[in-house]
Amino acid sequence: MILDSFKLTGKVAVVTGCNTGLGQAIAIALAEAGCHVVGINRSAPDGTIDKMKEGGYRFLDLRADLLNQTQIPNLIKQAIDEFGRIDILVNNAGIIRREDAIDFAEQDWDDVMDVNAKTAFFMSQAVAKQLIKQGEGGKIINIASMLSFQGGIRVPSYTASKSALMGLTRAMANEWAIHNINVNSIAPGYMETNNTAALREDAERNQAILARIPAQRWGKPVDVAGPCVFLASEAASYMHGYTIAVDGGWLAR
Ligand code: NAD
Repeated sequence: MILDSFKLTGKVAVVTGCNTGLGQAIAIALAEAGCHVVGINRSAPDGTIDKMKEGGYRFLDLRADLLNQTQIPNLIKQAIDEFGRIDILVNNAGIIRREDAIDFAEQDWDDVMDVNAKTAFFMSQAVAKQLIKQGEGGKIINIASMLSFQGGIRVPSYTASKSALMGLTRAMANEWAIHNINVNSIAPGYMETNNTAALREDAERNQAILARIPAQRWGKPVDVAGPCVFLASEAASYMHGYTIAVDGGWLAR
């Protein structure tokens, strides 16, 4: 039955930054699809823990600052100590800094590149090593952006990091497809989360953005959940290195 290939029963999924926003919706959707979830967060993911308890899902709550990569080996070890294996990684944690390119500070460049691109790469590398050791393949899903495709305004390090992430998605897919590891990305459009609060509070920007979205609404975190479950499932096993836009039609215009 085709629907069976979408099920994730008994799989172990690691999701970074799942205390809020898109990561929370993704973590809950993966659990609903059958996964045990390992959440990696800077601060306590209270809302996510409550929802996992309500659903009766297994959730391992790990704490780390993903601004640097030093804790990655220990995070992977803790996940394996708890669940015995890893099948899926979602690199969701991300930050944005806004400033005119002419005034953009080096720290705002480094921080954004570190979290959004460097940590995502080294998390993927660490998980890929484990997947290769297990010998049964696996799925790596990166949360990219419209700014993987476009230039954006006043967010140069974000654009650089998300463009890098789309390139890395292809690069990692090329090397790890042989191990039955599928590396793909989701590029969300304009979604209602903390990340875009400043844009939505600016009435003029808000109107300009809405006017350009064919679906005529901001995306909700749950809008990325279905595509993420799909990419995490056997149904997506011949997809390698692709970035799917989930954007209400933004890129189609
Ligand atoms: P958000 O700010 O609600 O969530 C970001 C998550 O990343 C949070 O869980 C945060 O704690 C975590 N994070 C940030 N820095 C971290 C660090 N140093 N260590 C550990 N965790 C850290 O925003 P969101 O919109 O849910 O963002 C999720 C992802 O989606 C990000 O990668 C973002 O770039 C991407 N994205 C969002 C939109 C949008 O419109 N909201 C659009 C495209 C892409």
